[in-house]
Order: sequence, then structure tokens, then C-alpha cells
Amino acid sequence: MAPVETQQYDYIVLGGGSGGSGSARRAAGWYGKKTLIVESGRSGGTCVNVGCVPKKMTWNFATINEMLHVGKSYGYDIPDNIAMDYTHFKNTRDAVIKRLNGAYERNWNREGIDLVQGRAGFVEPQTIEVKLADGSGSARYTAPHILLATGGRPNIPSVPGAEHGITSDGFFEMEDLPPKVAVVGAGYIAVELAGVMNAVNVETHMFIRGETFLRKFDPMIQKTMTDRYEASGVKLHRNHSGFKEVQLIRDGKGKDKLLKLIGHDGSELEVNELLWAVGRAPEVEDLNLNIPGVKLNAGGHVVVDEYQNTSVEGVYALGDVTGQAELTPVAIAAGRQLGSRLFGPPELKSSKLSYENIPTVVFSHPEVGCVGLTEPEARERYGDDKIKIYHTKFTAMFYDVMPAEEKAKNPTEMKIICAGPQEKVVGLHILGLGVGEMLQGFGVAVKMGATKQDFDSCVAIHPTSAEELVTMR
Ligand SMILES: Cc1cc2nc3c(=O)[nH]c(=O)nc-3n(C[C@H](O)[C@H](O)[C@H](O)COP(=O)(O)OP(=O)(O)OC[C@H]3O[C@@H](n4cnc5c(N)ncnc54)[C@H](O)[C@@H]3O)c2cc1C
Repeated sequence: MAPVETQQYDYIVLGGGSGGSGSARRAAGWYGKKTLIVESGRSGGTCVNVGCVPKKMTWNFATINEMLHVGKSYGYDIPDNIAMDYTHFKNTRDAVIKRLNGAYERNWNREGIDLVQGRAGFVEPQTIEVKLADGSGSARYTAPHILLATGGRPNIPSVPGAEHGITSDGFFEMEDLPPKVAVVGAGYIAVELAGVMNAVNVETHMFIRGETFLRKFDPMIQKTMTDRYEASGVKLHRNHSGFKEVQLIRDGKGKDKLLKLIGHDGSELEVNELLWAVGRAPEVEDLNLNIPGVKLNAGGHVVVDEYQNTSVEGVYALGDVTGQAELTPVAIAAGRQLGSRLFGPPELKSSKLSYENIPTVVFSHPEVGCVGLTEPEARERYGDDKIKIYHTKFTAMFYDVMPAEEKAKNPTEMKIICAGPQEKVVGLHILGLGVGEMLQGFGVAVKMGATKQDFDSCVAIHPTSAEELVTMR
């Protein structure tokens, strides 16, 4: 057998998602390094194909239905039950994503990055082998610097018949909406996808283990959002003990599919679709990380230090595969910093991403925005006597035209958590109409170390909801 030829690069990036692309572009585009991306799926990774982008577009689709409802109170003659063509929307969304796949590849090409499509794994400590996606065999590559940016994938629990349900990946493949759906999970993906389906009139059942969802968020967010979902029609099954079996009664799409969910408590429910949103696992299985000896933690994530170094010299990891703040801009920023550190000028040799005060938004209904510590975290870190909480709850003017019971379903709520005599803002938690766009600017202020006095010294913009954040007493 002829020896396999190994091609040499300066930088090999495994995974062409948010983090891999961000890092490769920094290395090649800014510093002219000979860079290879290996990608086994579609260019752009989770965010572009089965994450942020299709999710936000679907949130927009659902928000239009909510706005049609509000429009009636403004005097628009909007009939009930306006027909919506989900298949049309899905096809339009797919076309947008296809354009983005192309944009990623054009950017890589312009910056001189080579793309190899296939599944990569180590065969020697500094050498990877790629099973080429076109079926033409395999190829080997080596580099002094190899980045693991292979992301993660959704978990499916080990319940008999669980495979009859779908995950968030399958949600974006759905061509028809199911009339009745069960969503299992309490994290932000469960809340977002349940929210959009409820907003477009799908009978939505949410199964959560505790009393509230979004359990990692501030208690104010947990409580108000869980209550709000229930008030707006989501059928919440709190303190649920899980399913012991899922039976496929009828296969098909949309209304034609029928599943029976059998709970440990003996309860039964028939639904047209079951969505598992029970966490994500790092994508490490095919990488043969034992060959270089890269260490994993108990959850299977790649262990890294603050510079994204793994336990092996010359091998780095970032983004979801490390389990650090699993968000697209985090992966991109970590990737760029690493590219600068490895290949940039001497003054950038200690570049790294700060994981403190990362703002994040949940595209629920309404949106949620957070930066910094939750109230329990702040109390734990600083002590009860050093913490001051500012809180307000009101109805945004946009909903003032609606009947009282509808207004109550559309809260805006804000909490500023301050620490120490200077009242430094260490946590900001907001929910309501438009908070997703509101948070970015406040994120800058919190990152700069703003105090409550700094907030108050900024003149309010009136009439907005955001003005409450600079006028709170
Ligand atoms: C439903 C959903 C909604 C989300 N919404 C948001 C949001 O609104 N905002 C936000 O900031 N984040 C959101 N996220 C999270 C965000 O998508 C991820 O944090 C981000 O994509 C992580 O980037 P990454 O580079 O680490 O991995 P990925 O983007 O997952 O990229 C990894 C790539 O590696 C490839 N790969 C894996 N193994 C191999 C291998 N052995 N060989 C070759 N290639 C391989 C994969 O095919 C994939 O393309 C969402 C995620 C989901 C699932």
C-alpha cells in the first residue's frame, strides 16, 4: 500500500462553525497563515444551520402573529385565525441559510483558507485524517497548531421510543407545524421553541422537572416567564417525573404523526410531535483525542485553560466543545483572540477572551436579557449587606391599548443588582418587549464597571421602556 501523503499547514481548524471560522479567518486573513478548515457538515456550524439564525427567523415569524393580535386593539380590522403558510416560511428560511453557507465559504476562499469537507480525527499526536465527504477516501494533514472547534449536538434521553421524537435539529427540518406538541426541557432552547409554537397557535405542552424553567437565570426571570408562558396558553407540566415510554401510534408529518407519551406517574398524553430539549453533548467521539492525550472533564467537554490551551501543547479548543458559555459570539471572540495570540504581533501574545459579564438574550415571548450575576450569585459573592436591588415591573406603553387581562399577560420587568458602597452594577436582568436590542448597550456599560450613579447620570430617552433603567429608585 502506498504511504499516505500528509499535507502541511500552519494551522488546522476542526469545525467550520462560529469559533472555527472566527479563528481561521483571524489566522489567515489577518496574519497570512496557511490555514485549513475541516468541516463534516454544512459551513457555518450550529448557529447558521440549526441554531441562532433559523431560531431567530422563526421567532420573527411567531412574533408577527402576536403583533396581529395586538393590531386589533389598535383598530386594525384583522380577522381571527389568519392562515399562515409554515411551509412557505420554512422554504424561505432554508434559502436564507443556504446563502449564508455560501457567504461563509466565499469569505474563507477570499482569505486563502482551504476547506476540506469530511470527518476528522487524530491518527498521530499532530496529524489528523479526514474521511472525505465525497467518498473519495481519506487525506492526512499536519500542523504545529490544531484547534478543536467541533461544537456539540442535542441529547436524546434513554427512554424507550425516545427516537420517535425530535431535537432542535429536527425542529428546523419540520415542514408542517404539528397541531399539538410536547416540549421536554427547561433550558433556553426549550423555552424559545415552545414559545414560538405557542405563539403560532400550536397546542404546546412543556414538561419541566421543577416549578419554573430557565433555572440558571435570576429568580425574577424564572418566575415571571414561567407564569407568563402559562398565562399565554402554554400547558405547563411542572414537577414532572419524566417519561417511561414513547409509542409511535402513527408515522407522518404535522398532524398525521401521532405519539403517545407515557409518564412514570402513569399519565398518558397523545401529541403530534415530541421535542427533546434536554441539553447538549460535546462533539468529541470521532476525534480520537486519546491519541494526542487531550483531557476531557466529567461531562466529556475538552478541558482548557484561560488561553484555550488543552492539556496537549499545540492543541487548542474553544466554543461548545469546551462547554464554556455556549454562545456564538463567545466562540467567535475566543477564536479571534486565539488566532491573535498564536499568530499576531508580540503585543498580542497574551490575548485571551474575558468570560466575565457576557450579555445574553433568550428569544422567548417576551424576550429576556441578562448580564452579570443573578441575585443569589451576587448575595453569595458579596454578602447580603453589600447588595442593593432595584426592581420595577410595568406594562410597556405599546400594550396600553389592550384590555387589562391582556396587559397583564405582557409584562416588562427589570432588576439591577448593585454591590458595595459605590453601587457597582454587577447584574442586570430584564424581560419584556424589545429587551433583546436594549441589552447590548447596557452590556457595554456593565463591562466598563458602571455604577448605579453612572446609569442615573445618563439622561432618559422618552418614551421608551429602556428609560426605566436609568431612572429606577
Ligand atoms: C437551537 C439553538 C439555538 C441557539 N441560539 C443561539 C442564539 O440565539 N445566540 C447565540 O449566541 N447562540 C445560540 N446558540 C448556540 C450557538 O449556536 C453555539 O454556541 C455556537 O454555534 C458554537 O460554536 P462552535 O464553533 O463551538 O460550534 P459549532 O457552531 O457547532 O460548529 C462545530 C462544527 O464542527 C463540525 N464538526 C464536528 N465534529 C467534526 C469532526 N470530527 N470533523 C469535522 N467537523 C466536525 C460540525 O459539523 C459543526 O459544523 C443556539 C444553539 C442552538 C442549538
